[in-house]
Amino acid sequence: MNIQSLLRENIKTLKPYSTARDEFKGTAEVYLDANENPFPSAYNRYPDPLQKKVKQRISELKGIEPEKIFLGNGSDEPIDLIIRAFCEPGKDSLLITEPTYGMYAVCAGVNNVTVKRVTLDSTFDLDVDAVKQALDSSVKVIFLCSPNNPSGNLLSKEKIINLITTGNSIVVVDEAYIDFAKDEGFLPVLAKYPNLIVLQTFSKAWGLAGLRLGMAFASEEIISVLNKIKYPYNLNILTQQVALEKLSSAEEKNKQVDIILRERSILTEQLQALPMVERVYPTDANFVLVRMKDARNVYDQLIERSIIVRDRSTVVLCADCLRITIGTPEENKKLIETLKTL
Ligand SMILES: *Cc1c(COP(=O)(O)O)cnc(C)c1O
Repeated sequence: MNIQSLLRENIKTLKPYSTARDEFKGTAEVYLDANENPFPSAYNRYPDPLQKKVKQRISELKGIEPEKIFLGNGSDEPIDLIIRAFCEPGKDSLLITEPTYGMYAVCAGVNNVTVKRVTLDSTFDLDVDAVKQALDSSVKVIFLCSPNNPSGNLLSKEKIINLITTGNSIVVVDEAYIDFAKDEGFLPVLAKYPNLIVLQTFSKAWGLAGLRLGMAFASEEIISVLNKIKYPYNLNILTQQVALEKLSSAEEKNKQVDIILRERSILTEQLQALPMVERVYPTDANFVLVRMKDARNVYDQLIERSIIVRDRSTVVLCADCLRITIGTPEENKKLIETLKTL
């Protein structure tokens, strides 16, 4: 697998912007190199462009070398950068397996990159033959989401590996919800697959959606391309500071995940018992996809009672489905009590 041959020609030869902090890396007494305001405050200096301290902590936590980690303004940033690095606008394409997260197709559209859409099977797992049939030399990137949004299930690991090892494209596995799954995901085998990119985020289990911090893990070769084309100071000082603080208290995150998992099984059982519910799909995430007798009606009535869920009923394979995030025990109780009154 030759990663260089998959890259866009202009990206291969692009010379990146070199920041003042890239050119002088030591510590000094006097910094007159970046046209900053010299009067000290918490924010008068530019942040570390490569976020070394944060990456060191993530490296220890995940067992992945810092050189194989990219940090971005949410996962949305690496999603966009991956498309920009590998897909020639108006010529190349990417492949998604639907139903899935909407941002892959939106970023493709912004970059004028064609989207090939393959429908998942009836259990929301990969249809490997259908994917392979849709692959051609224009497909530079395959986006897979596991656990999948909006269906909630992990995709079959064997099927994902089949696609990583047989195609001639980058395979992105978006693991935004992996902390809620009883599975270690693809980080332990990252080194085996030079065309694999794993995405994770601080927006879900870590409780930091407002901070905007996403991670991409891949070979040093791929990560160095993403670093080359990102905005020089893509993560501000505050984001880096808060991330460092939160990373040293992973126990709090783990406790919250435990509660969410317990609530997930309670809620699943209670939903299943309601007359308006046809089916609660199995989930490995912090939400459940629920097939209703009349999803739109339930959705509207919940809004009237000040409870907002996500209506997915117009999405392929999701007719009459609502996606419901697991809330606090009190919120989940309120949801069930409200549904019982409808
Ligand atoms: C929520 C979510 C993300 C997270 O995006 P951020 O930009 O990191 O907030 C990524 N992928 C999927 C599938 C998601 O559902």
